[in-house]
Amino acid sequence: MIVFKFGGASVKDAESVKNVGEIVKKYDDKLVVVISAMGKTTNLLEKLIKAYFINDENKWEIFTQFKNYHSEITSDLFGDTEQPDVLELYSELEKKLNKNPTTDINYEYDQIICFGELLSTTIISHYLNSININNNWIDIRNCLKTDRKYREANVDWGESEILINNEFNFNNSQRYITQGFIGSDKNGISTSLGREGSDFTGAILGNILDADYVAIWKDVPGVLNADPKQMEATTKLDELSYREAIEMSHSGAKIIHPKTIKPLHNKNIPLHVKSFLNPDSEGTIIHPVKHTLDLSPVYIIKENQVLITLSPNDFSFIGVEDITQVFDLLAKNRFKINLFQQSAIDLNLVVDYPENDLNETIEKLMSLYEVKYNTGLELATIRFYNDKAITNFTKGKKVFIEQKSRRTARLIIKKN
Ligand code: ASP
Ligand code: MG
Repeated sequence: MIVFKFGGASVKDAESVKNVGEIVKKYDDKLVVVISAMGKTTNLLEKLIKAYFINDENKWEIFTQFKNYHSEITSDLFGDTEQPDVLELYSELEKKLNKNPTTDINYEYDQIICFGELLSTTIISHYLNSININNNWIDIRNCLKTDRKYREANVDWGESEILINNEFNFNNSQRYITQGFIGSDKNGISTSLGREGSDFTGAILGNILDADYVAIWKDVPGVLNADPKQMEATTKLDELSYREAIEMSHSGAKIIHPKTIKPLHNKNIPLHVKSFLNPDSEGTIIHPVKHTLDLSPVYIIKENQVLITLSPNDFSFIGVEDITQVFDLLAKNRFKINLFQQSAIDLNLVVDYPENDLNETIEKLMSLYEVKYNTGLELATIRFYNDKAITNFTKGKKVFIEQKSRRTARLIIKKN
C-alpha cells in the first residue's frame, strides 16, 4: 500500500481538488490519502480562535469567511447540491463558537483548528466518489491517539498502532481519505500535532501500515538546494538520505515537517517529494543513501530568529548549571532552541521568535543574568559548505555568530 499527502496549496480551490482527482486516478494501488486544510484555512482558523478566546464578536465575521470559502469550492464542485455532512460541520463549529471558552487557549485551539481538515477531507472524499474514485472517509481522531499536550500533542504509538490497523484494513475499500495534523486524546478530545503536521501524519500511517512508500505532493519539483525565494539559481536534488533530510528540515527548509523522517527511517520506507503541478516528473526520493562530504552546498534559511545573550551578573563563568537552568526555563515556555554557543562569560542562544510573550521570558532571564537580545534575525545553514559558499551567501549581511562543524556552517545574520 502507499500513502499520499496533499497539503493546503494542493487543494486550495475547486480546480486544485480536480487535479488531486487526476493524480489519484492514476494509481490502482491500495492507497491512503492524507489531506490538510484547504489553502490558508488554518491561518484563518487561528484568527478565529483568537477572536473566540477573547469573546470578540468579530468571530462571526471570520466564521462567515471560513464558510464562504468552502461553500465556493463545494458549489464549483457539486453545483447547488449541498452536502449534508459539510453543513453539519459548519453547524458544529457554530455551536462551539456560541459556547464560552475555557481558560486553556491550547485546548480551545485544538477544538477549533480541526475543522479545517475535517471539512477539506469531507469535501474531497465526496468529490472523488462523485467521479467514481471510490473511497472511504475516516475520522483519524478515532485512531490516531495522542497525549493531552494540546496544540503540540505527542503520539501514543502503541494505542494508535492497534486502532489504525483496525480502521485502515482495506477489507471493503481500496482507498481511504483522512485528515493530517489532528488526533485525539484518550477521552476522544481533539488534539493537534503542531503546525504543518500533516506530513508527520503521512509518516505515522506509512510506518504503522508498512507502506511501500509515502509521497508528499507539493508545488515545487522536489527538494531544492535552496529556497527559490532566497536564491536565483536552484537545482533539484534527485535523492537524499534520511539523515540529510532531517538536517535540512530541522534547519528550517520548509519542504517537509522535521518529525516526518524518523517513522519512515525506522522502517526504511522511502519518501517521495513530488510536484502536483507536474505529477509525472521524478521529484526527490529520500531513502538510504550514503552522501560523500563533497556534495554541492545546500542553503537553508530560517527566518524570525531571536539571539539572546546571557552573562552572569557577577562575572562568574558560565557553567553546566547555568545551561541547565536556562534550557529548563526555555523548555517550560515552549521555546525552540536552534543554536547555542558559549564563551567564558557569555551564553548565546538562538530561538524561534515565540508566539507568546517574549518579554515575559526575557524578564525572567533578567532576574538571573545580564541579558541582551536582537530580534528579526535569520539562521542561515549551509550543508556541505565551502568558503566561497559562505562568502557569497553572507555578502552585504551582518553576521552575529558563525559556527562550523564538519558538514555544516551555521550563521546568524541580519539582512541589510
Ligand atoms: N493545516 C495544518 C497547517 O496549515 C497542517 C498542515 O498543513 O500540515 O498547519
Ligand atoms: Mg497547511
